Parts: sequence; structure tokens; C-alpha cells
Amino acid sequence: MRPYVFERPGTVEDAVRRSGDGTAFLAGGTTLVDLMKLEVMTPGRVLDLNRLPLHGIEAAGDGLRIGALERMSEVAADPRVRRGYPMLSQALESSASGQLRNMASIGGNLLQRTRCGYFREVSTPCNKRQPGSGCLAINGENRMHAVLGTSDSCVATHPSDLAVALVALDAKVRLRGRDGGRTVELRDFYPLPGDTPHREHDLRPGELLTEVLVPRLDWARHSLYLKVRDRQSYEFALSSAAVAVRTAGNTIVESRVAVGGMGTRPWRLPAVERALAGRPATEASYTAAAATAVDGARPLRHNAFKPALMKRTIVRALLELERTR
Ligand SMILES: Cc1cc2nc3c(=O)[nH]c(=O)nc-3n(C[C@H](O)[C@H](O)[C@H](O)COP(=O)(O)OP(=O)(O)OC[C@H]3O[C@@H](n4cnc5c(N)ncnc54)[C@H](O)[C@@H]3O)c2cc1C
Ligand code: SF4
Repeated sequence: MRPYVFERPGTVEDAVRRSGDGTAFLAGGTTLVDLMKLEVMTPGRVLDLNRLPLHGIEAAGDGLRIGALERMSEVAADPRVRRGYPMLSQALESSASGQLRNMASIGGNLLQRTRCGYFREVSTPCNKRQPGSGCLAINGENRMHAVLGTSDSCVATHPSDLAVALVALDAKVRLRGRDGGRTVELRDFYPLPGDTPHREHDLRPGELLTEVLVPRLDWARHSLYLKVRDRQSYEFALSSAAVAVRTAGNTIVESRVAVGGMGTRPWRLPAVERALAGRPATEASYTAAAATAVDGARPLRHNAFKPALMKRTIVRALLELERTR
């Protein structure tokens, strides 16, 4: 690990004022410290956010407000989250491990870096880590990589489970920089890689993520997050689906569907949602709607199984959700 200056600002204003090029914010450190040890990230200054007042979960009439420093385990266990937005609790509880969730923050989870092995190995080329150096994953080991939203520069999946559930819920993030605050839809916060895969999010230099806003959605009580992975704990998604359904009798009125492990960003599927609307809540409807999920998918050499797995994950998630009604 390279030497760095360590500082503990006491206010958001102070943190933003001290930040700039070569600075990294530290929350739980479960991504940042790893990447500093690997010398993938080499900040000259680390600003510890843990004294900042970015805590708290509030459930008001217009939805949920979650402070960026809330720990993943605290949010997952909150009764208002568990009852009102089960897909959020389930996405968090299927992430990482118990110890990691006790340490890792909500803001850090949304800003974690990709888990592509080439990105984490500094001796190999990687357009995300070093723009213009190339992408070994495209013709290399790419079983875990993306099939949606890829480019000729990068095919890495977005790693966060929580982000998939939040995108399904139309969540927004509050950001704070030297020029003041702004609010951004989470689905617009993560750009497609295009030919600039090093740009992983819409955070400007020195800007802080201060809170997550989840709009009120009463029927999100009827939601579910299903994750398919190589082992049951401590593993990223090979495939996942966040689903919520509102029915009248046995007819689907509206739904939310997003998938993880498939896209270069958390991937909302409006075509699947449209295909479900007005249909009976049956396996046949789920299967027909899920077929539209794979439009535009571009499998790689080692992950040709992913489009079929995506369809099956969506159908299984909808069937499991139906059983909880
Ligand atoms: C073995 C292992 C397995 C894992 N499995 C999963 C999994 O299955 N699913 C999943 O979703 N995640 C998984 N993770 C990732 C884990 O959830 C993240 O490491 C964690 O959420 C990051 O949170 P943190 O608070 O520790 O962030 P940090 O490591 O402190 O920060 C991460 C990044 O975000 C920046 N940052 C942090 N907070 C802010 C803020 N408020 N504003 C601006 N920038 C900020 C930091 O500068 C850094 O670049 C796994 C991690 C490990 C090590
Ligand atoms: S897929 Fe993206 S992160 Fe992985 S090696 Fe290629 S450019 Fe780097």
C-alpha cells in the first residue's frame, strides 16, 4: 500500500472542502482498503466520513430516507424496510457476509468498484482502471461478465445487489459538492461504459453521496429479491431479480422488474413490466414477459448461459412472490 494522508473531517462542508483530485472518501473501507492494498486505488489523501452526520433511516409520508453511512445490516434489519420494502432487506441480506454487512455502508455499497478480476490485477490491461489500455475480459475469462449494456471497451457487471432493488423502486440519491446539493435518479447515476468505462457513476470530483431517497410505493410490500450465485454466501450474483407486483384479483395491474449480474449497470426491464400489465398472474404470463428481457443481450464466450438464466430467474422470482400473497 502506498503512503497517504489520513484526515477525519467533522462536517459535510469540511469533507467537501478538503476533497479533490487524489482524494478518496472512506466509509466502511471494505472496498476501498482492499483496492488500496492491491494498488488499484492509490489516493494521496483519505477522508474518513465516519464523523459526519449521515446516519438515520426515516419513513415519512413520501417514502424512505436512508443516510449514506447507515450500515447494510442496520438497514436490512429495520422493521420499516423489512415490512414496506422487503426486496431491499433481501438484497442486502444476500450481499457479502454478516461481518461485511456490519461494516459496510449504504453509500459505499452503491459506489463499490467492479469485481472484474482484470480490474483488480494491476499487471493486466484494463480500460476501466487505465483508460485506453485494453480489455482482457472480452476474449478472456468472462463467465461472470455482463450481457446487457456492454461495449467494445468494457463488459464488467455492476456488482451491487442493493442498487438493483433501488432501481426497481425508482430511488434517487442526494449528492453534495462544493457548488451545493443535487438529486439524481439512481438509474441515471450509472452511465453505460461506452468508450469511457472509467466513468462508473455521475459523481463529480469531490462530491459526496449523502442519502438515498426511496419514493413511497405502498404495493412494494409485495416485493422480492432473488439471487442466483455459485455459493449461498459471500458471493456476487450470477443472476438476480428484484420484482414487485400489484394485482387486482388475479390480474396484474402493474409491476417493477430489474435484474442484476447481467448488465453493466443495475438493469431495469420496462419491456417486461409492460408485458405483464393486464395479464393473469400465472406462470405462462411470467414466462412470456420474461422472454422480452433478453432483447439486445450480447453473450460472451463463457457466459452464453446468461440470457436463459436471466429469464428463469425472473420467472422464479415472480412465482416465489406469488406464493407470499
Ligand atoms: C468478499 C466480499 C464479498 C462481497 N459480496 C457482495 C455482494 O454479494 N453483493 C454486494 O452488493 N456487495 C458485495 N460486496 C461489496 C460490499 O458490499 C462493499 O464492499 C461495501 O458495500 C462497500 O461499503 P463501504 O462502506 O465499506 O465502502 P468503502 O470501501 O468505504 O468505499 C467504497 C467506495 O465508495 C466511496 N464512498 C464511500 N462512501 C461514499 C460517500 N458517502 N460518498 C462518496 N463516495 C463514497 C469510497 O471512496 C470508495 O471508492 C462484497 C465485498 C467483499 C469484500
Ligand atoms: S471488463 Fe471492464 S473492468 Fe474488466 S478488464 Fe475489461 S475494461 Fe477492465
